[in-house]
Amino acid sequence: MLSKVNSATLHGIDAIPIEVQVDIAKGSLPSWQTVGLPESSVRESRDRVIAAIKNCGYSFPRYRITINLAPANIKKAGTAFDLPIALGLLVSGEIVTQEKISSWLVVGELSLDGSLKPIEGALAMTLMAQEKKYKGIILPQSNLREVYLLRDYNIQGAHNIVEVVEYFTGHRLELCLPSGEPSEEPPPSYPLDYQDIRGQDHAKRAMMIAAAGGHNLLMTGTPGAGKSMLAERLPTILPPLSFQETLETTKIYSITPQTRTQNKNNFLLSRRRPFRAPHHTISEVGLAGGRSHPRPGEVSLAHNGVLFLDELAEFKRNVLEVLRQPMENREVTIVRSQAAVTFPASFILVAAMNPCPCGRRYSPKEECYCTPGDLQRYFKKISSPLLDRFDLHVPITAVSYDKLHTPPLGDNSYTMGEKVLCARKRQLTRLKETPYSCNAQLPPRLTREMCPLPPEGEALLSRAIDSLGFSARAYDRILRVSRTIADLENIEKINKEHVAEAIALRHLDKIVF
Ligand SMILES: [Zn+2]
Repeated sequence: MLSKVNSATLHGIDAIPIEVQVDIAKGSLPSWQTVGLPESSVRESRDRVIAAIKNCGYSFPRYRITINLAPANIKKAGTAFDLPIALGLLVSGEIVTQEKISSWLVVGELSLDGSLKPIEGALAMTLMAQEKKYKGIILPQSNLREVYLLRDYNIQGAHNIVEVVEYFTGHRLELCLPSGEPSEEPPPSYPLDYQDIRGQDHAKRAMMIAAAGGHNLLMTGTPGAGKSMLAERLPTILPPLSFQETLETTKIYSITPQTRTQNKNNFLLSRRRPFRAPHHTISEVGLAGGRSHPRPGEVSLAHNGVLFLDELAEFKRNVLEVLRQPMENREVTIVRSQAAVTFPASFILVAAMNPCPCGRRYSPKEECYCTPGDLQRYFKKISSPLLDRFDLHVPITAVSYDKLHTPPLGDNSYTMGEKVLCARKRQLTRLKETPYSCNAQLPPRLTREMCPLPPEGEALLSRAIDSLGFSARAYDRILRVSRTIADLENIEKINKEHVAEAIALRHLDKIVF
C-alpha cells in the first residue's frame, strides 16, 4: 500500500516541496529502506519514528517498508521528515485517511515518546506552503512564534503526534495557533542610545550620514576612544525593518542553529536591525557561511543590518577577501560539491582599526613616532579593493576629561533616527524606478545622473583631487556622500557645503592611496 504526505526541505534560506512516499509490502520480511538522497540525519529518523508510533499506542506495521523522498535528485537533510514519515505509516495502518492529509504540508521532528521538537526553517516552509496554495501547514508547537508574521494563513501547531492524529480523525477541531506580539509594533526600543556617548560629535554625525545613505564607514582611533560604542549604536538610528525585511531576516535566523539557541525565540518577531560583531579570529566559513550543509555566515546574519569588524588589521587577509562578493552583489554564494547555495548579505560595514602601528597617532598626551612609510605599510595590511569600499573615514580621538563630566549634549538616537528616516524616504522616492534603495548602492552611471554638482561644488572637488591627491576612485564616493548629506538636510540640490563635508570624511585617501 502506498501513501503520500507533502513535506519540505531547505535550499539556502528557501524551502522546496518534497513528497514523502511510504510503501508497505505485506507478506515480506520486516525491513526499512529510505531512498531519495537522504543524509544521515534523515536515515536516523527510522528509530525515532518506530519508537514514537509504538510509544503512543499505535500498531506498527511489521512489513517491508520503503520510504521515498521525491524528487530524488535533491539532497535531503534535517529532522523535519519524521512527522510526515510517521503519518504516512499511520495512513498505511488505516489510522488516518490519505484523503484527509493530501492537501496539507507536514513537518516536524519526533522524540521517542511521540512529542514534537522544533525544526529549522519553519518560516521558509510556511511561506512555501502558502505560495504553493496548500490548505495549511502542520508543524511543531514550538515553531509557532517564528511564523507569527504569517498568522493569517492556516497554521496548526501540535505538541505531539497524538494531537495530529486526533486533528485528522476529527477528534480535535483545532491545534495550537500562532501567538505573539503584534507585528505592527511602534519603532523598536533599544537599551543603547547615542546620547550615552559624550563628545564625539563629528563621529556621531558621520554615523548618521552612514545610516542615512547606507554608507560603509571606517573608524581609525586610539584604543579605548569609544569606537565600539559608536558602532553598536548604529542600529538605533536605522529605520525599523519593513515587513518584507523582517521576513528575510527571520528566515535567515530560523535556519541558523547557534542563533536559535542563543536568542531563544526573541529575535523572531523583532523589527530591530541585526548588529553582528564577529571577533578577528573568525574563519572564512564563519564569515561567509558554509559547511557541508550550507549555513548562513556572519555576512548573512548581518543582512539588513550592520556588520562591525573591530581591529580590522588583525583579521586574516583571506577571511576579509570573502567580503568582496557580498559587498558588490549584496549576496553570498557558497559552492559545495552537491550544489551552490546563495544567501542574502546586504549590510552596512563598519570597521575600526588603530590609526597607526603604535596606536598613539591622535593621542593628545602620548607621542607617536610612526613615519609616513610605517603608516602606508600598516594600511596595506587591508587590501585596497576592500579599503576602497569605505565611503566614510572617521578619525576618533579619546574624549577629554572635562567633556566626560559635562551633561549629555547633542542629538539622541531618536532625533537622529527621525532625520535618517526622512533622508531614506527621499532616496526611495528618487530611486523608485531602480532596484536600489539608498545612495551607497548607486552604480557609477546613476551616480553621475542623480548627484549633479553645482559649478562651485565641481570646482571644489577638482581642486581636492589635484591638491590633496584624491584618487579618481574617491570621486564617485564623494558624490554619493554629498547626495546623502543633502538628503539629510531635506534639500534636493547638492551645494558646496555638502561637497566640502563629504571631502572632509575621506582623510585616509591622503595617507593610503
Ligand atoms: Zn604611531
